Amino acid sequence: MPLHAKVDEIHGPAELTINPVFCQEVPPVPRHQLPAESMAPDTALQLIRDELILDGNARLNLATFVTTWMEPQAEQLMQDCLSKNMIDKDEYPQTAELERRCVNILAHLWHAPSAAPAGSDEGGAATGCSTTGSSEACMLGGLALLWRWRAARAAAGKTGPEQPNLVMGANVQVCWEKFCRYWQVEPRLVPMEPGRLHLTGPEAAVRCDENTIGVVAVLGSTMDGSYEPVAEIAAALDAHQEQTGQDIPVHVDGASGAFVAPFLAPDLEWDFRVPRVASINTSGHKFGLVYPGVGWIVWRDAAALPDDLIFNVNYLGGEMPTFALNFSRPGSQVAAQYYNFLRLGFEGYREVQRTCQEVARYLAAEIGAMGPYELLSDGSDLPVLAFRLADPQKSGYSVFDLSERLRQRGWLVPAYTFPENMQDVAVLRIVVRFGFSRDLAELLIEDLRVQVKALEAAQHEPVPLFPEGQRSAFAH
Ligand SMILES: *Cc1c(COP(=O)(O)O)cnc(C)c1O
Repeated sequence: MPLHAKVDEIHGPAELTINPVFCQEVPPVPRHQLPAESMAPDTALQLIRDELILDGNARLNLATFVTTWMEPQAEQLMQDCLSKNMIDKDEYPQTAELERRCVNILAHLWHAPSAAPAGSDEGGAATGCSTTGSSEACMLGGLALLWRWRAARAAAGKTGPEQPNLVMGANVQVCWEKFCRYWQVEPRLVPMEPGRLHLTGPEAAVRCDENTIGVVAVLGSTMDGSYEPVAEIAAALDAHQEQTGQDIPVHVDGASGAFVAPFLAPDLEWDFRVPRVASINTSGHKFGLVYPGVGWIVWRDAAALPDDLIFNVNYLGGEMPTFALNFSRPGSQVAAQYYNFLRLGFEGYREVQRTCQEVARYLAAEIGAMGPYELLSDGSDLPVLAFRLADPQKSGYSVFDLSERLRQRGWLVPAYTFPENMQDVAVLRIVVRFGFSRDLAELLIEDLRVQVKALEAAQHEPVPLFPEGQRSAFAH
């Protein structure tokens, strides 16, 4: 007698059904058209889950800055809020309230003059909002700069087709190039040079003129994790203003660093303590420790955000101002951000970021001591390290080969070349995130040693330095 019966997948008790996916009871699944018939929910789930096995293991992805681990309680909360629409402030006033609190918490952390004073539990009057990520936040920050420049020109009675420009390092994230292209602003990119991997004050100031809408300073370059010197850039722009009368605001792209520096470098003045800083963005889903889908932007005060960019939506019979590119989006990420704030507090965030930094420094020390590698950063700003082969010709293999080999074990360690002017420099980068423990780091170092040895042993078989098609395979 058979131990289990084969039961019709829809009508029979589910626990007795042989999985129809594995028994080929499911007709071929069309990939690019809507299937003609429905299928059982468990069948659909199994099919898609199986396909997704092919995605890499997010925890071994050392390329991304984006959160890959959250506490189960936070996951539960996100589940609870999946169906809440962030824009529907009328139906979900409490989700809107959590967003407002998060904006005030960040404004306070970044020393905005409009934030509630330390120790007070007043509402705070910070100007800012949540977004889907830093890209949208940067777009909003850039728009505010563009509108302010236009308003200043109109006020000065200037007309004519001048082309606005935005000054920034060539190391900026691609969202700034998008901003420039979409809004027809000329990007003035300061190239990187050996020994200068990000923007400096003098390099920024010399490119500014009366059509410069602002300067972007990146707190935590995606290239190497280094902080751009915001205070020095602002000082150079102060001197520029003295000479020319041009008052050029700074936007800080703190996608990663605005959630790291307040905890690990509290004395570093990069935020609203620097009077020229008009706005700051960050990614809640990077070192804000939330799963993908949330960013933040805060302006120094209401004056830094032109009124005519703001739309009003109905809110409990009243009007609620919004500034966003998207309309509907889930409330889960905002609730999860507030969960982290409440759960971790200042000390908790500091502990998390400090641990990441220690792991990054450990990795840097080990890799630096291996011999063939030269460190370009060692985790002392963002918990990120970038390193390259000290002598790629002599080594006989490239960082792309090493990246490929590490992948065989599941580690995703991206290799990429630097932008214009330094395209001949190829590096590997490791981002240490919450959830990447010292223990995992030791395993990575062990694997790295094994692979380096194998590559060195294979030296007599020449390996191309930059295999075709891999040069720009990695996007930040
Ligand atoms: C990641 C990143 C962005 C883009 O952020 P998303 O949240 O992924 O949209 C912008 N700028 C910098 C410096 C970044 O690191």
